[in-house]
Amino acid sequence: MNTPRFRAVILFPENISCYKVPMTEVDITIVGAGVIGLAIARELSSGTGQVAVLEREAGPGMGISSRNSEVVHAGIYYPTGSLKARLCVEGSRLLSSFCLRFGVPFSRIGKVIVASCPGETPAVEELHRQGVENGAEGLTLINGKELAKREPHVSGDCALLSPHTGIVDTHRLTKTLERHCLGQGASILYRTGLSGIEKKPSGYLCRAEGPGGSTYRFFSRVVINAAGLDGDKLAQLAGIDPDEAGYRIFPLKGEYFRVRGSKGSLVNGLVYPVPERNLAGLGIHATKDLAGSLRLGPNTLPVDSSGYDVDPSHASAFYESARVLLPFLEPDDLCPDMAGIRPKIQKPGGPARDFVICHEDGRGLPGMITLAGIESPGLTSCLAIASSVKGLLKGAGLTR
Ligand SMILES: Cc1cc2nc3c(=O)[nH]c(=O)nc-3n(C[C@H](O)[C@H](O)[C@H](O)COP(=O)(O)OP(=O)(O)OC[C@H]3O[C@@H](n4cnc5c(N)ncnc54)[C@H](O)[C@@H]3O)c2cc1C
Repeated sequence: MNTPRFRAVILFPENISCYKVPMTEVDITIVGAGVIGLAIARELSSGTGQVAVLEREAGPGMGISSRNSEVVHAGIYYPTGSLKARLCVEGSRLLSSFCLRFGVPFSRIGKVIVASCPGETPAVEELHRQGVENGAEGLTLINGKELAKREPHVSGDCALLSPHTGIVDTHRLTKTLERHCLGQGASILYRTGLSGIEKKPSGYLCRAEGPGGSTYRFFSRVVINAAGLDGDKLAQLAGIDPDEAGYRIFPLKGEYFRVRGSKGSLVNGLVYPVPERNLAGLGIHATKDLAGSLRLGPNTLPVDSSGYDVDPSHASAFYESARVLLPFLEPDDLCPDMAGIRPKIQKPGGPARDFVICHEDGRGLPGMITLAGIESPGLTSCLAIASSVKGLLKGAGLTR
């Protein structure tokens, strides 16, 4: 094990002097301080190695991790045996106990996936079968009467009830993960982007760019790519062809609209339609946040120059789609809320893809770990993904 040369340091814009930390060698470098990078850093820094997280934004969780539905999924949708199914079921269990133990706001408000007409009943039954096979807990098929008892203002023929599905405060989750990492001696360098990776016999010579245009190099035995939407660019820096490897990101935007006023109280839990084919998205659904307000979304839009803007003219499409299950809605009830961008590795129109969690030793890059396509249910799965990354490193003899 190398002599630790990193000190635990957290860099904020106002204390840029912290940047003069000597950084020449480190055991493990994680690129990205979203929920995935931070969960991995927490898992790995509880051992003995020196862990550093590089994040080009000024704080944690400013990427995909702060722009999502905040739902802790049960593991229903994904093909049995896939990483998404396994890590979601395991992650949901881990995340709910984590939240309980460390005071992160979390509520099991439950979810219904609703057949809006008899023609959708077989799809709901199939989701039930798959969810049970995946190990999702507590799933029950309920008829129209039972649905009306649970959700009196939701219209539908029958539904799959998932009572364990919950919602979490992603901001508090991210801050808690960050606190644990720092408490265990990991270093987190904000406003610092990894800009070069060069393979050396026993690891990687990394180039980083920090505040004020400063650049420096350091050596890392292990590099973990948890760069979210830029995962393909980072893989390329390491010499991996993202197209050949299947890591190319095809970003897919999702907008949300908020339901104004008190109508949010007409829905008790999460209300989802039958999902879209090929799982490009789960369909425009109704989610509640921990304050009780109701949001609709996300839709699926190719990414354009509007960045994270929400186009107010899309309100009518949201209304048309949502009023099938929520007939109490009126067009004026909706106002633009926010948008997120999915890091899809699924080609537009192509088949759904699983999470990629890969040790790149097969590409001649031992100690390089790629996480690609960590879209939903990535938030739910973050702790299980972290444990899986630790398993990969342990299996390769790269950590204890
Ligand atoms: C619309 C939407 C809805 C979703 N809903 C849910 C849900 O309800 N439940 C669920 O379980 N999941 C959901 N997800 C998925 C979940 O949000 C993601 O899987 C998760 O947040 C991914 O986290 P991450 O850490 O990989 O990415 P990010 O949070 O984006 O973190 C990656 C970080 O890497 C940094 N970075 C990139 N390149 C560099 C570089 N070169 N140097 C330094 N830093 C770099 C970025 O700045 C970024 O902060 C949703 C996603 C979307 C888009």
